[in-house]
Amino acid sequence: MKTLPEKGKNAENVLKELEEYARNDYEPHSKRMWGHIYYAGQKELVELARKAYLMFMDKTMLDFTTFPSLLRMEREVVGMAASLLGGDENVVGNFTYGGTESIMLALKAAREKFRKEKGKDVIPEVILPATAHPAFWKSAEYLGFKAVRSGLNDELRADVDHMSELMGARTAVIVGSAPNYPFGMVDDIRSLSDLALDSGVWLHVDACLGGFSLPFFRKLGEKVPDFDFSIEGVNSISADYHKYGFSPRGASVVLYRNAKLREGQIFVMAAWPGYPLVNTAVLSTRSAGTLAATWAVMNYLGIEGYLRLAEKMLYAKRRLIDGLAELGFELIGKPEGPVLAFTSDNLNLFQISSLMAEKGWYVQSQPGSKQLGFPRSLHFSVNPGHADVVDKFIEDMRDAVSRAGKGYPDVTSFDVSKLEIGKGDIPEDMELINELIHSMPPEVVESFFKYVINELIFRP
Ligand SMILES: *Cc1c(COP(=O)(O)O)cnc(C)c1O
Repeated sequence: MKTLPEKGKNAENVLKELEEYARNDYEPHSKRMWGHIYYAGQKELVELARKAYLMFMDKTMLDFTTFPSLLRMEREVVGMAASLLGGDENVVGNFTYGGTESIMLALKAAREKFRKEKGKDVIPEVILPATAHPAFWKSAEYLGFKAVRSGLNDELRADVDHMSELMGARTAVIVGSAPNYPFGMVDDIRSLSDLALDSGVWLHVDACLGGFSLPFFRKLGEKVPDFDFSIEGVNSISADYHKYGFSPRGASVVLYRNAKLREGQIFVMAAWPGYPLVNTAVLSTRSAGTLAATWAVMNYLGIEGYLRLAEKMLYAKRRLIDGLAELGFELIGKPEGPVLAFTSDNLNLFQISSLMAEKGWYVQSQPGSKQLGFPRSLHFSVNPGHADVVDKFIEDMRDAVSRAGKGYPDVTSFDVSKLEIGKGDIPEDMELINELIHSMPPEVVESFFKYVINELIFRP
């Protein structure tokens, strides 16, 4: 176990050590990552965001009365988001540190409203299409909702009829994605809105990915279904500045159709000897750096800047779809969003992902689930910078395909001792692990992960 050094080290050495630590990391700006990273590919933009971040890094968003600039910036970045998402002057919202936090707050607001109407003893239910982000399942666990999974239709969008069948007196919230993370499709928010209005339940639209990409795709002539406050039944929307808003990590927004709906989000505590604590978010003390960086990036880009970036993303997306189809990968569904996935029955996707990692590319494996009928796939979050490298990427994929085995190995023949998950190590053979995840029941995968994470990986 590493302990606090007796004597401090000089700053130069500390930084050198950190550089050494980072040696095996991917470089976030290298354009080599097709997942987890959202990057405009513009040096000036990153420099601006860093300067703005540093200017406000030491200020805290804990108490809105201390630093007036923070309140002003928050109101402005919320306004910019609301105006992109069909909001009128009644729409309100708050800056948060991520999509998960935005979703958790919206569910809390919905739960408080539900409790007022139905009493505190009824356990509220949230109906989640299979493609809804795990942040909803996590929020349900934190907030005491029962989460109910609903199916997908032929187009792999939320099956609205199935959702309708699952709804009852305990249903508090229904959810649609714009688009969903695994495949990039936008759910039929209009039909979900009709359901919500008919039954008086809360409709949340998760536009974490689409909030700052779909409006620009649409302006560029792409076919994008309606998904925002222009649809009457939409109560709240989550949208991530730190994804396609291109601000640094730690920036998202939760929006409500009107202030009445937000009431349950806000936490106030005046009954202690300290200052009255007012929280609009889950987190309390937090750096204002990401807020300032978000404000700076949005003002720097403007609609024009986002449109230019969206053009590049659409170019890279088209090249990727054509190039990978030619190599035998099968595009899943008809994704309107900036993310998409490919499946294959006869190419070993997980092995291809490992071969690409050897070439320095990050390609995200989605193991899916045999039991739940979710396909194995490779996920791609398309970034503007990918326009410059997509052709090279496809060439490297061609090589990986030619070297990879055909089809998938039989898991029962696996030598599990090869797994070698040691204390504090990140497992190396992800190919094997992904195939196991695909084949095992999800509850088994979940307990296995909890054990490994708790007992082995996160140790000092
Ligand atoms: C990323 C994402 C989230 C969760 O956001 P975090 O910022 O990772 O907390 C929720 N929904 C969708 C569709 C996402 O892509």
